[in-house]
Amino acid sequence: MKNIYLIDVTNRDGVQTSRILLSKLAKTMLNLYLDEMGIFQSEIGFPTLRHEVNYINANLELAKEGVFKNIRLEGWCRAIPEDIELTFKNCPDIKHLNISISTSDIMLKGKFRSRKTWDDIVNSMVEALRLAKSLGAETVGVNAEDASRTDIDRLIEFTFAAKENGADRFRYCDTLGADDPITIYQRIKKIAEAIKFPIEMHCHNDLGMAEAVSVAGAQGAIESGVDAYINTTINGYGERAGNCDLVSTILALKYSHGFGEKVHMEERVDLKKSWKIARYASYAFGIPIPIAQVGVGANAFAHESGIHADGALKDRRNYELYDPEDVGRGEPELLQTGRIITTGEYGGLRGFRHVYDDLGIHFHDDREARKILELVQYANLHTQKPLTDDELRFIAEYPKIVSKVLTVTRKFK
Ligand SMILES: [Zn+2]
Repeated sequence: MKNIYLIDVTNRDGVQTSRILLSKLAKTMLNLYLDEMGIFQSEIGFPTLRHEVNYINANLELAKEGVFKNIRLEGWCRAIPEDIELTFKNCPDIKHLNISISTSDIMLKGKFRSRKTWDDIVNSMVEALRLAKSLGAETVGVNAEDASRTDIDRLIEFTFAAKENGADRFRYCDTLGADDPITIYQRIKKIAEAIKFPIEMHCHNDLGMAEAVSVAGAQGAIESGVDAYINTTINGYGERAGNCDLVSTILALKYSHGFGEKVHMEERVDLKKSWKIARYASYAFGIPIPIAQVGVGANAFAHESGIHADGALKDRRNYELYDPEDVGRGEPELLQTGRIITTGEYGGLRGFRHVYDDLGIHFHDDREARKILELVQYANLHTQKPLTDDELRFIAEYPKIVSKVLTVTRKFK
């Protein structure tokens, strides 16, 4: 049976979203947490965007040093040769790319103002794809933006051209969140049966069905004998009404009647890391987790009404599909309510050493401690929220990488 793999796009689709922001240090932490969770690939950002370059190269260095265990780090750019050139100029070590171009008639007319014909679209994609491979890309996913509003025969032609020219996957983008589970299942099946090529689902939540259409599309792919990939974001952060939520997707694949035993999700995926990653993303983005959020919301395992509480107390299976522990919940949280010493933007050596002593990290001498303290100050200047224990550990362990992550250089005239 074919597999379902998860590609998280929080660090690309999530961060490009209006009115929500993430620091480069937090993006790096998310890549580390996604790796720890066993996610197949992280779309880490935009190699053509100047302020992303140091962060991306620093993360690629971490990968080279073996700090990431398994996750693939992938960059996103447009499927035009100029973007591919710039990507490899900025980030020569990048190995995985997803390249994107609009394919729907409505976007050809509305975005390109009919300056591009359908053949221009296919040719641009092919040219960009071949260039990316020739410059060292090991894998390239080819994205059809607005695939859900694109004529199916055209999508088949596009996917065929991608496969013929060395692509590794086709990304079906339900850019406007317009698909429903039945339609996407049928469309993905048609493409998969025609081309026999792995397909990524990239679905948005404008109709409240992002997870439903993603898993239905994936089912269409695996039933047709090809691997399926689902694009997710942590807590569903993404353009407009958001993307397909990571934790909900794993839960749906594991526990829904239609999937459960019947599909193979990549085995590395560790659902128990859900609580940690969802809470960190919420903290780092500065967006509270909704009370009814799947798996990680405050009410996901709460029972009060007479019949429900009685039933849950008799046997939790009466009202729960899975346990809080399955998503990594249930640990009591110890909050410091008395005196606390913190370190950060305006911290000094004494407090800094106290904090790190508590984390079990000790420095050889004052010189070394001062160096890390300065980095902590700058990291905190950069995140503008109290640094977490994991962030402090990461800074002390990889100071060179962190200083790169924190550095943005650009001279404005
Ligand atoms: Zn998107």
